[in-house]
Amino acid sequence: MTRHEIITGHVMSFTEDPFSIAPTASVTWHEALLIRDGTIIATGDLDTLRQQAPSATLTRHDGCLICPGFIDAHVHYPQTAIIASWGARLIDWLERYTFPEEMRFADPAHAAAAADRYLDLTLAHGTTTVSSFCTSHAASVDAFFTAAQARGLRAAAGKTCMDRNAPPALCDTAQSAYDDSAALIARWHGVDRLCYVITPRFAPTSSADQLAALGALWANHPDCLMQTHLSEQIEEIAWVAELFPKARDYLDVYETFGLLGDRALFGHAIHLTAREASRLSQSGAALIHCPTSNSFIGSGLFDIGRRLAEGQRIGLATDTGGGSSFSMLRTMAAAYEIGQLTGTVLHPAQLLWLATAGSARALHMGDRIGTIAPGMEADLVVLDLASTPAIATRHARADDIWDAIFPTIMMGDDRAIRDLRIMGQPLRAG
Ligand SMILES: [Zn+2]
Repeated sequence: MTRHEIITGHVMSFTEDPFSIAPTASVTWHEALLIRDGTIIATGDLDTLRQQAPSATLTRHDGCLICPGFIDAHVHYPQTAIIASWGARLIDWLERYTFPEEMRFADPAHAAAAADRYLDLTLAHGTTTVSSFCTSHAASVDAFFTAAQARGLRAAAGKTCMDRNAPPALCDTAQSAYDDSAALIARWHGVDRLCYVITPRFAPTSSADQLAALGALWANHPDCLMQTHLSEQIEEIAWVAELFPKARDYLDVYETFGLLGDRALFGHAIHLTAREASRLSQSGAALIHCPTSNSFIGSGLFDIGRRLAEGQRIGLATDTGGGSSFSMLRTMAAAYEIGQLTGTVLHPAQLLWLATAGSARALHMGDRIGTIAPGMEADLVVLDLASTPAIATRHARADDIWDAIFPTIMMGDDRAIRDLRIMGQPLRAG
């Protein structure tokens, strides 16, 4: 049976990249949108849409912001239970908190429970798509995709490959990383709304042989994404230089092994050399900005203005659990704050674009999600722009739509999520 629904509110449609023109000119506002069988059919004024679909059910969210579901381009779902762990820098953070937690994912029941918990939390915060690192256990990937599939999500994930500088219980080998990943691609890639991401954790925990094996795997499956970490902390960069003395720089390690391309996602990418920045923009790879993580772990300031000027493709992410929040609203606020510290004042349209269309473009999903337009999948989040007494007080003083939205970006959390749709359907319990 055909299902039609009209939803009213401040429907935000990006028609341009807000970094390429005046941000306010990048958005067209509509009074309502029409969904049919999970797809956005039309946007426009309510009367016109009612004429177009007289039998449609009507859901009124007048005064709320209706935007694409948030897209979190870099997360570690296995780190859900260790978010906000105190007092470490990257490498000892991995050893003290991350690796012991990831070892627990040898138990498929633990992995299944963690995946359910993680997706319930992110959905409650308005995030409808993530790209997740799993653990080195293939079953952790099965658990994640099973939970995402049950919720009807468009989601990306991969087995985190590591064959050195990690506890033996978490280490695979070059061959098993290749074989496990290939089997997971066959099982999950392109199934329903799921896509596989080839996932070396980062250069220090993979041998040259393993990186080469994963480069070969990507060459055999070029429609998969590839995600890893790049130049997050100064100590890490020095360690990579020690481990790969022949490499020109950190990025060169990945490039040498076939792990640079336009479907590559590099988390952090804070401390880039001029050569690295130039190679990244030439390759079309995406830099994933993780602002709460970068301040929480003390990694540094991602200079978004400079990266935009270089023409880099940029996505936005929480990096849970190195990041300190599941919320893309909080993440947009942190991006704004780090922008302030690096001399780039991000407009609310630019922040919302990074969390939706920008991250969709980074994940090569921009033809399906991340924008409200006819033909797009109806993954939507509806934001109450006066969700707490403090935000409501500030909202009452707003003199235009952007001024009405900005307090929710800066101070909003899961209480702002009024409604959420996955392919047009209200959230169902996992
Ligand atoms: Zn990460």
